[in-house]
Amino acid sequence: MRELTCITCPNGCLLQVDETEGGIRVTGNACPRGETFAIAELTHPMRTICSTARTTYPETPVVPVRVSGEIPKERIFDVMKEINNIVLDRRVKRGDVLIPDVLGLGVDVIVTSDILTRKLCCH
Ligand code: SF4
Repeated sequence: MRELTCITCPNGCLLQVDETEGGIRVTGNACPRGETFAIAELTHPMRTICSTARTTYPETPVVPVRVSGEIPKERIFDVMKEINNIVLDRRVKRGDVLIPDVLGLGVDVIVTSDILTRKLCCH
């Protein structure tokens, strides 16, 4: 029996997962999404990534980025390496794609903030 914390919603239910010959049995979930999560976690765990990308702008040295969908958990390190290679020298805005179809995983690395396009304050 394995215990997993469901990360699908903030409730964070503690799931007990039994793998039997008849299949995977999940208890401890307050809703059906917990069972879906547990089965996916055992068979093909997926994750999303929120991170930052470097820029050449001293006043804004990094901008927040994320992947546009979930990726296999075992590819997180590879995608983080791609994100860490980014050095932005243009003023991108929220939703702009920095790496389309990163590593052929079918998701993009996108900007999640307008911090680089906001007017600088000049009192
Ligand atoms: S089992 Fe349902 S209620 Fe519990 S954390 Fe997962 S999604 Fe939320």
